[in-house]
Amino acid sequence: MGQYKGSVELRILDQGNDVKLLVAVKRVADYNVKVRVIADASGVDLDGVKMSMNPFDEIAVEEAVCLKEKGVVTEVIAVSCGVAQCQETLRTALAIGADRGVLVQTEAELQPLAVAKLLKAVAEREQPQLVILGKQAIDDDCNQTAQMLAALLGWGQATFASKVVVDAGTLQVTREVDGGRETVGLKIPAVISTDLRLNEPRYVTLPNIMKAKKKPVATLTPEGLGVDVSHRLKTIKVVEPPKRSAGVKVPDVATLLDKLKHQAKVI
Ligand code: AMP
Repeated sequence: MGQYKGSVELRILDQGNDVKLLVAVKRVADYNVKVRVIADASGVDLDGVKMSMNPFDEIAVEEAVCLKEKGVVTEVIAVSCGVAQCQETLRTALAIGADRGVLVQTEAELQPLAVAKLLKAVAEREQPQLVILGKQAIDDDCNQTAQMLAALLGWGQATFASKVVVDAGTLQVTREVDGGRETVGLKIPAVISTDLRLNEPRYVTLPNIMKAKKKPVATLTPEGLGVDVSHRLKTIKVVEPPKRSAGVKVPDVATLLDKLKHQAKVI
């Protein structure tokens, strides 16, 4: 990880310059939906399933919009890669407060490396100072895209961010790590991935949904960006988690204590 301690001069705070922030938003099955595995175990059935923005990406958009409200960046651009319906995910980002959207449209199933390459190509066109992504997509649980993007761009990265501070010319990110928190200073441009505690995304209001309809969304394609999105991984099988066995009623406290002592297992 590109750790950089001490005072760093940031272009991000230059007065009068356009300072762009790219935020990646993925369309996934809504977190309230219980998805079913397809009979041939090749994946999950998304037919008729409610789709929403990946929850970690909502946090990413919220953070991006907060940085704009604080005057740290001047433009927030939301990017989504996938089918035409990702437009809806982009509209949600625009309703939270992003300024414009970029859809990289494809019917191909995208794996993290392909998404990272597409985001790199968009970053090269847009020249942002910061890219914010979710730490993981709740459908594939990969937790790879931000790290791959930072590596492809050759930029520093701060993953699992629980606090982002841009102050007096420095970017400092506090990260959720095993057993505590770590604060790192980063050179700009940089890639950040969001953890749960970074912020609480605002509610999207009806007037803002209406305003979002008028904001621009550009459509690009992997071919137009010169990115090969072919698969590097093959899914061999997908299975449901094991069913939990039914609970039992105990007649009294003594039996409960006995069961806890002799039968309870630490999971
Ligand atoms: P993953 O590495 O798949 O767990 O995804 C981590 C993050 O990468 C997500 O939270 C998104 O911010 C971003 N991302 C992944 N896939 C896409 C996509 N198809 N379009 C836009 N952003 C994506």
